Amino acid sequence: MSDPSAATLVDGLRAILGTDGLLTDPQELRLYMYDGSIDRALPIAVALPRSAEQIERIVRLCAEEGVHVTPRGAGTGLSGGSIPLCGGIVLSTARMKSILGVDTENATATVQPGLVNLDLSRHLAPLGFHYVPDPSSQGACTIGGNVAENSGGPHTLTGGVTTNHLLALEVVLADGERVRLGSRAPDPPGPDLVGVFCGSEGTIGVVTEILCRIVRTSESVRTMLVAFDSCRAASEAVSAVISSGIIPTAMEMMDHPALGAIEAFSHAGYPVDAGAVLLLELEGLEDGIDRATQRVADICRANAAVEVRLAADDEEREALWKGRKKAFGAMGRIGPSYYVQDGVIPRTRLPEVLERVEAAALRAGLRVANVFHAGDGNLHPLILFDDHDPEQIKRAIAAGEEILRACVEVGGSITGEHGIGMEKRDYMALQFPQATLEAFRALRDACDPQRTLNPYKVLPSGLGCAEGGKRQKTLTQMQELAHQAQAAGEAY
Ligand SMILES: Cc1cc2nc3c(=O)[nH]c(=O)nc-3n(C[C@H](O)[C@H](O)[C@H](O)COP(=O)(O)OP(=O)(O)OC[C@H]3O[C@@H](n4cnc5c(N)ncnc54)[C@H](O)[C@@H]3O)c2cc1C
Repeated sequence: MSDPSAATLVDGLRAILGTDGLLTDPQELRLYMYDGSIDRALPIAVALPRSAEQIERIVRLCAEEGVHVTPRGAGTGLSGGSIPLCGGIVLSTARMKSILGVDTENATATVQPGLVNLDLSRHLAPLGFHYVPDPSSQGACTIGGNVAENSGGPHTLTGGVTTNHLLALEVVLADGERVRLGSRAPDPPGPDLVGVFCGSEGTIGVVTEILCRIVRTSESVRTMLVAFDSCRAASEAVSAVISSGIIPTAMEMMDHPALGAIEAFSHAGYPVDAGAVLLLELEGLEDGIDRATQRVADICRANAAVEVRLAADDEEREALWKGRKKAFGAMGRIGPSYYVQDGVIPRTRLPEVLERVEAAALRAGLRVANVFHAGDGNLHPLILFDDHDPEQIKRAIAAGEEILRACVEVGGSITGEHGIGMEKRDYMALQFPQATLEAFRALRDACDPQRTLNPYKVLPSGLGCAEGGKRQKTLTQMQELAHQAQAAGEAY
C-alpha cells in the first residue's frame, strides 16, 4: 500500500464530497480538535457528507489508504470519543439531520444521525409524542452520538437509556459496506446486533440511519424542588422514595456549590443556601398524580427536607429544568474549567461515595460540585480546575481516577452514559477482567481488523487498540500528514 500524501487524500475526498463538503483550512480544523473532555488532537481534514452513499465512499477510500476515520456528531461527548487522536479525518454528521419519517401508529421515527436530540421531541410534540432519552445536552447533541454513547438523561430513571429505544440501525462498516441491523418488529431472531452497536463509540461502524421508538407524552406531569441541609439527607430521601414503590420519572441532585452557580445563571429560584436540592418529576394520568406527588413530598419531609416546592405552572417547571440542564455550563461561574466523571453506584451507597468524592477533591487541592442523576446512582462530580495550569490538570485527573476507583469498589461502574472514549480507556481494567477485555477486542477485530474507525479509543492501550491494525499508519506518520496539511495552509 502506498502512503497517500495529504493532497492525494484530499483530492479523493473532494471528488466524493464536492468543494463545500470538505474542510481543510487549518483554522477550521482547529474547531474539530475538541469535545467536552480535556484532550485535543487535530484532524487532517473534516468531511461533511450529506448522504449514507457519501459515507460509504469516504470510509472505503480511507480504509484503502490506511487513514483513520473518527465519526463526530455535535462534539458534546465528555470522554474524548470524537477527538481524532491520531490525526486521520473527522467524519461529521452535521449535515445529515433530517427526520425521514414518523409513524405514530407503530410509535416509531426514522431519523438521520446528525439530528439534534431535542429537535426530534420538538417535532413530535404537536402529535402528542416524544423521544425518551433526554441527555442534559439534548439541545446540541445528536441522536447518532447518543446511539454511539448509549446516552441517558434525567428521564431515563423509568424510561431507560438509548438502547431501550432503538429498533433498527443502518450502519457503514469499517470496509465501507452498508448494512441494516435490527428490524421494525421487536425481538428479531439472532444476536442483538443493534445492542452491540449501541455504545460502541464509533469504533465498529458509522451510524447512517436510526429507527427509534417514540412514546406518547403523559397526560399529567408534576415537578417538585426539594431542599435539604446536606447531600446525605437528600440521598437518603432518594432511597426512601424509591423503596416506597413510587418511581418518579426523574430524580436529579445538585449540591451546595452547584446551586450557587446554577442560580446565578438560571435565576430559577434555586435555594442557594441549601446543602443539596432534589429536582423530582412525576408523570402519569391526571387521576392519581396529585396523591402520588403528595406522598413523595411527605417522604421527603420525613427525611429532613427543609423546603418542598411544587412548580405552579409550565413556566416555573421549565425554569427549574433549565437550571438543571444548563448546570454544566453554569460551572463557568465558579471555575475556569471542569473535569466531569460519570461513575455509577448502587444508590444506597450515595452518601458514602459523595464523601469520598469530596475527600478526593480536597486531596487534590481542588473544588468539586455535584450535579447528577441521583435516582440512577449516576454521579457527575465536576472537578473544577484551571486548564492553563498543567499541574492542576494532573491533579484533576488524579482526583477523577480516585473517584472512579471508589465507584468500582462499591460495586459500581466507571461510566453510566458518557462513554469511555480516550479519557476512561485506561480505567477499563479497573472494572473488567483481562478475559473480558480480550473478548471486547476480538469483537472489534472482527468488525474492523484494520482499526480504520476511531482507533485508540475504548480499549486500554496494550490490548491492540493502541497498536492499530497492521495496515494503518503509525501515529508518527499520521502526525506527519497533519503537519503537511497545516504547512500547506489554505492552498491544499
Ligand atoms: C453539558 C453537557 C451535559 C451532558 N449531559 C448528558 C446526559 O445527561 N446524559 C448523557 O448520556 N450524556 C450527556 N452528555 C454527554 C454527551 O452529550 C453525550 O455523550 C452525547 O450522546 C454525545 O453526542 P454528540 O452528538 O455530541 O456526539 P460526539 O461527542 O460528537 O461523539 C460521541 C461519540 O460518538 C461517536 N459518534 C458520533 N456520531 C456517530 C455516528 N453517526 N456513528 C458512529 N459513531 C458516532 C463519536 O465517534 C464519539 O465516539 C453531556 C454533555 C454535556 C457537554
